[in-house]
Amino acid sequence: RPDTLLLGLIGAGIQRSLTPSMQMEEARHHGLRAHYQLIDLDRFGGSTADLAPLLWSARAMGFAGLNITYPCKQAVIPHLDALSDEARAMGAVNTVVIREGQLIGHNTDGSGWARGFTRALPQADLSAVALLGAGGAGAAIAHAALRLGVERLRIVDADAGRAQALADELNRLYAGARASASPDAAHALAGASGLIHATPTGMAKLPGLPLPAEWLHGGLWVSEVVYFPLETELLRTARALGCPISDGGGMAVGQAVGAFELFTGRTPDAARMERHFHQL
Ligand code: NAD
Repeated sequence: RPDTLLLGLIGAGIQRSLTPSMQMEEARHHGLRAHYQLIDLDRFGGSTADLAPLLWSARAMGFAGLNITYPCKQAVIPHLDALSDEARAMGAVNTVVIREGQLIGHNTDGSGWARGFTRALPQADLSAVALLGAGGAGAAIAHAALRLGVERLRIVDADAGRAQALADELNRLYAGARASASPDAAHALAGASGLIHATPTGMAKLPGLPLPAEWLHGGLWVSEVVYFPLETELLRTARALGCPISDGGGMAVGQAVGAFELFTGRTPDAARMERHFHQL
Protein backbone atom coordinates (compact mmCIF):
# COMPACT_ATOMS: atom_id res chain seq x y z
CA ARG A 1 0.00 0.00 0.00
CA PRO A 2 1.41 3.39 -0.93
CA ASP A 3 2.00 5.89 1.84
CA THR A 4 -0.65 8.51 2.29
CA LEU A 5 0.42 11.94 1.09
CA LEU A 6 -0.10 14.25 4.07
CA LEU A 7 -0.87 17.88 3.26
CA GLY A 8 -2.45 20.74 5.18
CA LEU A 9 -3.41 24.38 5.34
CA ILE A 10 -2.42 26.67 8.21
CA GLY A 11 -4.47 29.84 8.58
CA ALA A 12 -7.35 31.49 10.44
CA GLY A 13 -11.01 31.07 9.50
CA ILE A 14 -10.32 28.54 6.75
CA GLN A 15 -13.23 26.14 7.24
CA ARG A 16 -14.75 26.96 3.84
CA SER A 17 -11.46 26.74 1.91
CA LEU A 18 -11.73 24.93 -1.43
CA THR A 19 -8.03 24.03 -1.39
CA PRO A 20 -8.39 20.63 0.36
CA SER A 21 -10.88 19.44 -2.22
CA MET A 22 -8.77 20.70 -5.14
CA GLN A 23 -5.59 19.02 -3.85
CA MET A 24 -7.20 15.71 -2.86
CA GLU A 25 -9.16 15.36 -6.09
CA GLU A 26 -6.08 15.95 -8.24
CA ALA A 27 -4.06 13.53 -6.09
CA ARG A 28 -6.75 10.90 -6.64
CA HIS A 29 -6.39 11.26 -10.40
CA HIS A 30 -2.67 10.61 -10.02
CA GLY A 31 -3.33 7.43 -8.05
CA LEU A 32 -2.10 9.05 -4.83
CA ARG A 33 -3.84 8.63 -1.49
CA ALA A 34 -3.87 12.08 0.05
CA HIS A 35 -5.10 13.48 3.32
CA TYR A 36 -5.45 17.26 3.50
CA GLN A 37 -5.76 18.62 7.04
CA LEU A 38 -7.20 22.04 7.89
CA ILE A 39 -5.14 23.57 10.70
CA ASP A 40 -7.40 26.47 11.63
CA LEU A 41 -5.95 28.86 14.22
CA ASP A 42 -9.47 30.08 15.02
CA ARG A 43 -10.54 26.55 15.95
CA PHE A 44 -8.04 26.21 18.78
CA GLY A 45 -7.49 29.84 19.76
CA GLY A 46 -4.10 29.81 18.09
CA SER A 47 -2.03 32.58 16.56
CA THR A 48 1.13 33.03 14.49
CA ALA A 49 3.03 32.34 17.73
CA ASP A 50 2.02 28.69 17.25
CA LEU A 51 3.76 28.34 13.89
CA ALA A 52 6.96 26.85 15.30
CA PRO A 53 5.27 23.88 17.03
CA LEU A 54 2.84 23.38 14.14
CA LEU A 55 5.66 23.20 11.59
CA TRP A 56 7.70 20.99 13.88
CA SER A 57 4.74 18.62 14.22
CA ALA A 58 4.04 18.54 10.49
CA ARG A 59 7.64 17.58 9.86
CA ALA A 60 7.58 14.97 12.62
CA MET A 61 4.38 13.44 11.24
CA GLY A 62 5.78 13.16 7.73
CA PHE A 63 3.74 15.86 6.00
CA ALA A 64 4.87 16.44 2.41
CA GLY A 65 3.77 20.04 2.44
CA LEU A 66 1.56 22.81 3.73
CA ASN A 67 -0.33 25.69 2.28
CA ILE A 68 -0.10 28.87 4.31
CA THR A 69 -2.68 31.62 4.37
CA TYR A 70 -3.80 34.67 6.34
CA PRO A 71 -2.38 35.65 8.84
CA CYS A 72 0.73 33.47 8.49
CA LYS A 73 2.22 34.22 5.06
CA GLN A 74 4.92 36.54 6.38
CA ALA A 75 5.16 35.15 9.91
CA VAL A 76 6.10 31.69 8.65
CA ILE A 77 9.29 32.88 6.94
CA PRO A 78 11.67 32.90 9.95
CA HIS A 79 10.74 29.24 10.60
CA LEU A 80 11.81 27.99 7.16
CA ASP A 81 15.14 26.57 5.99
CA ALA A 82 15.09 28.18 2.53
CA LEU A 83 12.93 30.27 0.21
CA SER A 84 12.32 30.21 -3.54
CA ASP A 85 13.36 33.34 -5.43
CA GLU A 86 9.72 34.35 -5.84
CA ALA A 87 8.85 33.92 -2.17
CA ARG A 88 11.94 35.89 -1.17
CA ALA A 89 11.10 38.71 -3.59
CA MET A 90 7.49 38.87 -2.36
CA GLY A 91 8.36 38.46 1.29
CA ALA A 92 5.44 36.04 1.58
CA VAL A 93 4.98 32.26 1.49
CA ASN A 94 1.79 30.38 0.61
CA THR A 95 3.32 26.92 0.08
CA VAL A 96 5.84 25.01 2.18
CA VAL A 97 7.42 21.86 0.81
CA ILE A 98 8.82 19.46 3.42
CA ARG A 99 11.52 17.22 2.01
CA GLU A 100 14.30 15.38 3.82
CA GLY A 101 13.52 17.31 6.96
CA GLN A 102 13.89 20.69 5.25
CA LEU A 103 11.12 23.28 5.07
CA ILE A 104 11.25 25.20 1.79
CA GLY A 105 8.96 28.21 1.29
CA HIS A 106 7.42 29.04 -2.08
CA ASN A 107 4.79 31.44 -3.33
CA THR A 108 2.31 30.29 -5.97
CA ASP A 109 -0.14 33.19 -5.53
CA GLY A 110 1.46 35.45 -8.12
CA SER A 111 2.30 32.68 -10.59
CA GLY A 112 -1.21 31.31 -9.97
CA TRP A 113 -2.72 34.64 -10.92
CA ALA A 114 -0.53 34.72 -14.05
CA ARG A 115 -1.59 31.20 -14.96
CA GLY A 116 -5.31 32.01 -14.67
CA PHE A 117 -4.90 35.37 -16.37
CA THR A 118 -3.03 34.08 -19.42
CA ARG A 119 -5.51 31.22 -19.79
CA ALA A 120 -8.46 33.62 -19.74
CA LEU A 121 -6.87 36.54 -21.63
CA PRO A 122 -3.96 35.24 -23.70
CA GLN A 123 -3.96 38.30 -25.99
CA ALA A 124 -4.16 40.95 -23.27
CA ASP A 125 -2.34 44.21 -23.98
CA LEU A 126 0.19 44.59 -21.14
CA SER A 127 1.47 48.07 -22.01
CA ALA A 128 -0.17 49.99 -19.13
CA VAL A 129 -2.03 48.37 -16.27
CA ALA A 130 -3.85 49.76 -13.24
CA LEU A 131 -3.67 47.66 -10.08
CA LEU A 132 -6.27 48.47 -7.42
CA GLY A 133 -5.21 47.09 -4.03
CA ALA A 134 -1.65 46.65 -2.74
CA GLY A 135 -2.34 44.19 0.10
CA GLY A 136 -1.33 40.53 0.17
CA ALA A 137 -3.02 39.53 -3.09
CA GLY A 138 -2.19 42.78 -4.87
CA ALA A 139 1.51 42.58 -3.96
CA ALA A 140 1.81 38.97 -5.17
CA ILE A 141 0.06 39.89 -8.41
CA ALA A 142 2.23 42.99 -8.90
CA HIS A 143 5.39 40.88 -8.87
CA ALA A 144 3.83 38.36 -11.24
CA ALA A 145 2.50 41.07 -13.55
CA LEU A 146 5.99 42.51 -14.03
CA ARG A 147 7.42 39.03 -14.55
CA LEU A 148 4.71 38.48 -17.15
CA GLY A 149 5.75 41.58 -19.07
CA VAL A 150 3.52 44.42 -17.88
CA GLU A 151 5.35 47.54 -19.04
CA ARG A 152 3.82 50.20 -16.82
CA LEU A 153 2.06 49.31 -13.57
CA ARG A 154 0.13 52.01 -11.72
CA ILE A 155 -0.78 51.02 -8.21
CA VAL A 156 -3.66 52.46 -6.16
CA ASP A 157 -4.48 51.69 -2.55
CA ALA A 158 -6.69 53.42 0.01
CA ASP A 159 -3.46 53.41 2.04
CA ALA A 160 -1.31 55.56 -0.27
CA GLY A 161 1.89 54.67 1.59
CA ARG A 162 1.30 51.00 0.88
CA ALA A 163 0.98 51.63 -2.86
CA GLN A 164 4.14 53.75 -2.86
CA ALA A 165 6.12 51.18 -0.85
CA LEU A 166 5.12 48.41 -3.25
CA ALA A 167 6.04 50.50 -6.31
CA ASP A 168 9.44 51.35 -4.79
CA GLU A 169 10.09 47.70 -3.96
CA LEU A 170 9.20 46.55 -7.48
CA ASN A 171 11.40 49.17 -9.11
CA ARG A 172 14.26 48.13 -6.84
CA LEU A 173 13.87 44.40 -7.59
CA TYR A 174 13.12 44.27 -11.30
CA ALA A 175 15.52 45.94 -13.68
CA GLY A 176 13.68 48.28 -16.02
CA ALA A 177 10.40 48.00 -14.10
CA ARG A 178 8.11 51.01 -14.38
CA ALA A 179 5.87 50.79 -11.35
CA SER A 180 4.34 53.88 -9.79
CA ALA A 181 1.77 54.79 -7.17
CA SER A 182 -1.32 56.65 -8.39
CA PRO A 183 -3.44 58.90 -6.17
CA ASP A 184 -6.70 57.33 -7.37
CA ALA A 185 -8.12 54.84 -9.85
CA ALA A 186 -9.10 57.56 -12.36
CA HIS A 187 -5.46 58.61 -12.59
CA ALA A 188 -4.25 55.00 -12.81
CA LEU A 189 -6.78 54.18 -15.55
CA ALA A 190 -5.94 57.11 -17.82
CA GLY A 191 -4.60 55.50 -20.98
CA ALA A 192 -4.49 52.04 -19.35
CA SER A 193 -5.10 48.83 -21.29
CA GLY A 194 -6.22 46.82 -18.30
CA LEU A 195 -7.41 46.84 -14.69
CA ILE A 196 -6.46 44.32 -12.03
CA HIS A 197 -8.75 44.45 -9.01
CA ALA A 198 -7.20 43.20 -5.74
CA THR A 199 -9.24 44.74 -2.92
CA PRO A 200 -11.91 42.77 -1.02
CA THR A 201 -14.75 44.91 -2.48
CA GLY A 202 -17.30 42.71 -4.19
CA MET A 203 -17.01 39.82 -1.75
CA ALA A 204 -20.36 38.48 -0.53
CA LYS A 205 -19.80 40.24 2.82
CA LEU A 206 -18.58 43.47 1.16
CA PRO A 207 -20.75 43.94 -1.94
CA GLY A 208 -20.42 46.81 -4.36
CA LEU A 209 -18.02 48.30 -6.86
CA PRO A 210 -14.45 49.26 -5.89
CA LEU A 211 -14.56 52.31 -8.18
CA PRO A 212 -17.21 54.44 -9.91
CA ALA A 213 -18.70 52.53 -12.87
CA GLU A 214 -18.20 55.51 -15.19
CA TRP A 215 -14.41 55.11 -14.94
CA LEU A 216 -14.68 51.78 -16.78
CA HIS A 217 -14.95 51.48 -20.57
CA GLY A 218 -14.98 48.73 -23.18
CA GLY A 219 -11.33 49.28 -24.13
CA LEU A 220 -10.08 47.78 -20.85
CA TRP A 221 -9.57 44.17 -19.91
CA VAL A 222 -10.49 43.46 -16.28
CA SER A 223 -8.88 40.88 -14.00
CA GLU A 224 -10.69 40.19 -10.70
CA VAL A 225 -9.24 38.50 -7.59
CA VAL A 226 -12.44 38.14 -5.57
CA TYR A 227 -13.92 34.66 -6.02
CA PHE A 228 -16.68 34.50 -3.37
CA PRO A 229 -18.76 35.09 -5.50
CA LEU A 230 -17.14 34.41 -8.85
CA GLU A 231 -19.40 36.91 -10.61
CA THR A 232 -18.76 40.18 -8.76
CA GLU A 233 -20.46 43.47 -9.45
CA LEU A 234 -17.21 44.67 -11.07
CA LEU A 235 -17.22 41.73 -13.50
CA ARG A 236 -20.93 42.17 -14.24
CA THR A 237 -20.37 45.85 -15.01
CA ALA A 238 -17.26 45.16 -17.09
CA ARG A 239 -18.94 42.37 -19.04
CA ALA A 240 -21.88 44.64 -19.88
CA LEU A 241 -19.39 47.19 -21.28
CA GLY A 242 -17.81 44.49 -23.46
CA CYS A 243 -14.53 44.26 -21.50
CA PRO A 244 -12.62 40.97 -21.79
CA ILE A 245 -12.54 39.55 -18.25
CA SER A 246 -10.65 37.10 -16.07
CA ASP A 247 -12.38 36.03 -12.84
CA GLY A 248 -10.94 35.31 -9.38
CA GLY A 249 -11.29 31.57 -9.87
CA GLY A 250 -8.31 31.60 -12.22
CA MET A 251 -5.97 32.66 -9.41
CA ALA A 252 -7.55 30.30 -6.86
CA VAL A 253 -7.05 27.35 -9.22
CA GLY A 254 -3.67 28.59 -10.44
CA GLN A 255 -2.16 28.75 -6.95
CA ALA A 256 -3.41 25.19 -6.29
CA VAL A 257 -1.94 23.94 -9.57
CA GLY A 258 1.44 25.38 -8.62
CA ALA A 259 1.25 23.96 -5.10
CA PHE A 260 0.30 20.47 -6.32
CA GLU A 261 3.30 20.46 -8.62
CA LEU A 262 5.58 21.45 -5.75
CA PHE A 263 4.08 18.98 -3.26
CA THR A 264 4.16 15.96 -5.56
CA GLY A 265 6.70 16.67 -8.29
CA ARG A 266 3.98 15.69 -10.77
CA THR A 267 2.39 17.79 -13.48
CA PRO A 268 -1.23 18.47 -12.54
CA ASP A 269 -3.95 18.71 -15.15
CA ALA A 270 -4.83 22.39 -14.82
CA ALA A 271 -7.99 22.14 -16.92
CA ARG A 272 -9.23 19.23 -14.78
CA MET A 273 -8.51 21.15 -11.58
CA GLU A 274 -10.41 24.12 -12.99
CA ARG A 275 -13.42 21.97 -13.88
CA HIS A 276 -13.41 20.49 -10.39
CA PHE A 277 -13.20 23.96 -8.81
CA HIS A 278 -16.27 25.07 -10.75
CA GLN A 279 -18.21 22.08 -9.40
CA LEU A 280 -17.46 23.02 -5.78
P1 NAD B 1 -5.53 42.79 2.16
O1 NAD B 1 -6.37 43.26 3.27
O2 NAD B 1 -4.14 42.30 2.41
O3 NAD B 1 -5.38 43.96 1.07
C1 NAD B 1 -6.45 44.70 0.56
C2 NAD B 1 -5.92 46.09 0.18
O4 NAD B 1 -6.93 46.81 -0.52
C3 NAD B 1 -5.53 46.95 1.39
O5 NAD B 1 -4.22 47.44 1.20
C4 NAD B 1 -6.59 48.07 1.39
O6 NAD B 1 -6.06 49.30 1.86
C5 NAD B 1 -6.96 48.14 -0.04
N1 NAD B 1 -8.30 48.65 -0.34
C6 NAD B 1 -9.48 48.22 0.18
N2 NAD B 1 -10.51 48.85 -0.42
C7 NAD B 1 -9.98 49.69 -1.34
C8 NAD B 1 -10.52 50.59 -2.31
N3 NAD B 1 -11.85 50.73 -2.47
N4 NAD B 1 -9.67 51.29 -3.08
C9 NAD B 1 -8.33 51.14 -2.96
N5 NAD B 1 -7.77 50.29 -2.08
C10 NAD B 1 -8.57 49.57 -1.29
O7 NAD B 1 -6.38 41.68 1.41
P2 NAD B 1 -5.83 40.57 0.41
O8 NAD B 1 -5.36 39.40 1.17
O9 NAD B 1 -4.92 41.21 -0.54
O10 NAD B 1 -7.18 40.11 -0.31
C11 NAD B 1 -7.88 40.97 -1.19
C12 NAD B 1 -8.97 40.16 -1.89
O11 NAD B 1 -8.36 39.18 -2.73
C13 NAD B 1 -9.89 39.39 -0.95
O12 NAD B 1 -11.20 39.49 -1.45
C14 NAD B 1 -9.41 37.96 -1.08
O13 NAD B 1 -10.45 37.03 -0.87
C15 NAD B 1 -8.98 37.93 -2.52
N6 NAD B 1 -7.98 36.90 -2.81
C16 NAD B 1 -8.24 36.06 -3.84
C17 NAD B 1 -7.32 35.09 -4.16
C18 NAD B 1 -7.61 34.16 -5.29
O14 NAD B 1 -6.99 33.10 -5.36
N7 NAD B 1 -8.48 34.52 -6.22
C19 NAD B 1 -6.14 34.96 -3.42
C20 NAD B 1 -5.90 35.85 -2.38
C21 NAD B 1 -6.84 36.81 -2.07
